[in-house]
Amino acid sequence: QSVTTHKRTIMMNADQVKELAEVAKDAALLHGVLMRTQETPMSSELVSYAPFTLFPTPVPKAVFHQALAVQTFYNTLVDKISQDSEFLQEALASTIAVDDFTARLFKIHQMILKEGKSQDIVLGLNRSDYMLDQGGDGTSSLKQIEINTIAASFGGLSSRTPDVHRLVLTVAGRKEESQQILDNNPAAGLARGIAKAWELYGAPRAVVMFLVEESQRNIFDHRFVENELWKRGMRTIRKRFDHVSKTGFLDKEKRLFVDGQEVAVVYFRNGYMPQNYISEQAWDARLLMERSLAVKCPDINTHLAGTKKVQQVLAKPGVLERFLPDHPEAVQQIRATFAGLYTLDMGAEGDKNIAMALATPDRFVLKPQREGGGNNIYGTEICQVLEAVKESSERTAYILMDKIQPTPQQNYLLRRDAPLKISDCLSELGVFGTYVRQGTHMVMNECVGHLLRTKSSEHQDGGVAAGVAVLDNPLLI
Ligand code: ADP
Ligand code: MG
Repeated sequence: QSVTTHKRTIMMNADQVKELAEVAKDAALLHGVLMRTQETPMSSELVSYAPFTLFPTPVPKAVFHQALAVQTFYNTLVDKISQDSEFLQEALASTIAVDDFTARLFKIHQMILKEGKSQDIVLGLNRSDYMLDQGGDGTSSLKQIEINTIAASFGGLSSRTPDVHRLVLTVAGRKEESQQILDNNPAAGLARGIAKAWELYGAPRAVVMFLVEESQRNIFDHRFVENELWKRGMRTIRKRFDHVSKTGFLDKEKRLFVDGQEVAVVYFRNGYMPQNYISEQAWDARLLMERSLAVKCPDINTHLAGTKKVQQVLAKPGVLERFLPDHPEAVQQIRATFAGLYTLDMGAEGDKNIAMALATPDRFVLKPQREGGGNNIYGTEICQVLEAVKESSERTAYILMDKIQPTPQQNYLLRRDAPLKISDCLSELGVFGTYVRQGTHMVMNECVGHLLRTKSSEHQDGGVAAGVAVLDNPLLI
């Protein structure tokens, strides 16, 4: 199996590609790789396939396994950070002075810290994302893009994409390759974590509440996780912030009730960007849930542990050791995945980093504290933004990061309403982690699957929801 085989695979004539693309789309529909349409995001009356690549993408075996192997260490790290309020305060101080959204989240964190947490069960469902940086010598190294500690998506759909690519390759006469597509079932692994937290909560009639957006194009991704919970006999409800603010309350024991039902676990699939909080009531609802006895996934501390500012601070010498003092192996494996990350805090170091970015902007990505794709700044725009903010504390809203340069690979991106054409593509590998802690006891800590997303190299930024990347599968080489 090699890159050459991949090149041969995609070199088909136009008619063959067209025919295979039709097969692929129908296979996606058959296997449930679905999304609601842009026109009808509120109902499942009309659905289409979720965008995906026609072919799987070659990924070197060694880096793939490296990414899986480091995941439980990342789970531990995130969990430790979330328990260190002093660290969060110090790391985020310059950010919250200028970034209102992070500041609001931090305010909730401070309130809970003062009041005392009511629940000692912690459920973490995260996804660590990587790109493969090409070395001069033809090798590639695994570099983390970010870790998502809230609403990490596509664990559901990526549990179904392997069968789609298997079918496509089989129809294309590449049976052998099709057998090399890895099994993948993050949906089951995420649900295992939710079920464990629900069990520990200890009220058989209590439900799992998916906290969702108004527009739910990606509902099928959630449904695969829900389906795993239903199979266990658990009940789920899907509610928005406004439902919680209208009907939610805490009883004397701080148990959370929404629509008359006791909630054991709140699974946030919303609440990670400013636009998700359309009113003050939404913020009140977040606080209500945070104060409650329900297990929050994530709790506010873990949400903050996933910010890009924390990621940058972690890359400073000695910080990983602070969290993992007795685990040099974990420190080494985590650090190996770090790209260069640079502070823009006021002072000499920040000044130096800004000068470096202005001199060679193409080497960097400028990132604000935002999630969901489409927020980062690249190329000459880095200079425009930095020139405008470099003299003021506004600059501390951003971090600077080395730009990862993966080797482009050709593929066809199958997307509704987009012409079928071959594109130079870049891929991003995500790895799902699940952990559950009760008090000081780690009850569960697992790597539960992967996700490959691929985008045309014309686009610097962007996820699947942002309409840029599409779902893919790794083909290990
Ligand atoms: P978000 O929270 O919006 O997903 P990310 O840090 O994941 O923020 O960045 C969004 C996208 O931008 C990534 O999916 C990737 O395509 C691109 N990107 C981010 N950081 C880098 C980087 N250091 N080098 C190259 N591309 C990057
Ligand atoms: Mg991302």
